Amino acid sequence: MAKAKTGIYWLGTDLRLHDNGCLQRAAASVDHLLIVYCLDPGLFKPRRYQATRMGQQRYRFLAQSLDALNSALREYGQRVFVFYQHPLDILPALVDRYQPEYIFRSAHPAIDECQQWQQLQQRVERERAGRTSDERLYAKRIQWLTLENSTLFNAEDIEQLFQIEFNEENRSTAGSFPASFSKFRRQIEGALSDSQLSITGAMDVNLSLPRQVAISPASYSEFDRYLLTDTQRLSSLNFGRGAVPESTEEGVNEFYGGEASALAHLGQYFSDAKAHHYKSVRNELSGWDNSTKFSAWLANGCLSPKLLLEALHAFERHNGRTDSSYWIFFELLWREYFYWYALYYRAGLFAFSGIEGRRPLTSFYSHRYSSWISGTTPYPLVNACMTELNTTGYLSNRGRQIVASCFVNELQLDWRYGAAWFEQQLIDYDVASNWGNWQYLAGVGADPRSAKSGPASGRHFDLQRQQRQYDPDGTYIKYWASRAADPLSQQDDAAIIPLDFVDAADWPIA
Ligand code: FAD
Repeated sequence: MAKAKTGIYWLGTDLRLHDNGCLQRAAASVDHLLIVYCLDPGLFKPRRYQATRMGQQRYRFLAQSLDALNSALREYGQRVFVFYQHPLDILPALVDRYQPEYIFRSAHPAIDECQQWQQLQQRVERERAGRTSDERLYAKRIQWLTLENSTLFNAEDIEQLFQIEFNEENRSTAGSFPASFSKFRRQIEGALSDSQLSITGAMDVNLSLPRQVAISPASYSEFDRYLLTDTQRLSSLNFGRGAVPESTEEGVNEFYGGEASALAHLGQYFSDAKAHHYKSVRNELSGWDNSTKFSAWLANGCLSPKLLLEALHAFERHNGRTDSSYWIFFELLWREYFYWYALYYRAGLFAFSGIEGRRPLTSFYSHRYSSWISGTTPYPLVNACMTELNTTGYLSNRGRQIVASCFVNELQLDWRYGAAWFEQQLIDYDVASNWGNWQYLAGVGADPRSAKSGPASGRHFDLQRQQRQYDPDGTYIKYWASRAADPLSQQDDAAIIPLDFVDAADWPIA
């Protein structure tokens, strides 16, 4: 009888059962599966750019998503083991204990995650190489499988269409990747229409999962101290007293992590005519229905973009296709663009001078940075947006553009500090979309306008004009000013706070 095969599935931004090609592959390959999520304690500690990587709101959504996945898996006799431990510490120990033949991981575009995957392989193989010859046999049997699971297209198709290669290390200057989103989109749409390129449908198969790896009591006690229980996940982990708050703000408490809420929202969004109004209202500063609000579920992998596209197409078949409904696909192409951009440029995604190698004329002024993050700048609209972001973990696209433009232009701050603050705060944090959009706004990314005129000159939003256009009667500003914790951000009229109250040497200005 053939020996039963064991696998470890290392979860990342793929917290769902539907259309999960990597999980399907695991199901088809092994008899026993250990499903693991590694919550790195380092995410909660301050790092470069004065922010942590995981703030309260972001963690709340993630914890909800993990719990939802755990509940869904129980129906298949499976569960998620959430380890509060760095992946490179816990995974080699699990490999050593369970001797898997396979390790599965959904592909990720960011350099750190790609390197972690390689380092894990090296560490495991190195440790095994030091073993006796009998034990070394195991090393030959491990298959490391990483599959694309969060995009509409796959890497080979993108490489072929744009004649590029993704596997070269650390590009930090512009290469042959499409120089602008428009070029990318036109080529994609052209290839789709003449069938050079296709988007495969979401997988529609009855999932049946391998049995859970049998955990002996001895292993439990070995790993127990790193395992998070369901209650711990949704409680005060690293946030001091009290539970991680549920958001109570109007229009925001609909953001609940997990696949079940993602699917409920998908059904609800396309149940009426919202998609036919999308294009004209997507730029509004607030309003639950004014944009699709799929981003947080997409970013955590609770929702597959292919399933979302199928729902959009089904809506269009029944209700007609309009420019507005098409625009949802258009925006999903932005998401694709930044995913492949991140995979192509690697470290270049985080470089101060971006992919063009042009250094912006910005610096770091700690008091300006503090006023921006606390919503106490001289600009009431910026303060309102920052209060919304800090309170809820979400901000409209328009709001993000306004505060990022202010950060780079009015406050003349190094854009990476702003991007890092967003990383900490956003429930929909997505490494490629976040750092890619920040580069774009800072004039060092994929923006043809800044390529012509130099960094930070192309996307400078006139704050007064934005306020007149998007908050003409001040409702948005008043709403968030009344909820701001800091009295300074409760100003809803003309700016009365000076930009600088200290000089360059941090001495108070009289
Ligand atoms: P909708 O307008 O309904 O768009 C539908 C979907 O298209 C979104 O869910 C998203 O997946 C995609 N999309 C829309 N606009 C963009 C865009 N500009 N770039 C990439 N994808 C887009 N989006 C994130 O998902 N994660 C981030 O970390 C993130 N950081 C950003 C930082 C800055 C400075 C800026 C300007 C934008 C950022 N965005 C980010 C893009 C965009 O603001 C959000 O995707 C959008 O506001 C989410 O709301 P929605 O789902 O209602 O979007």
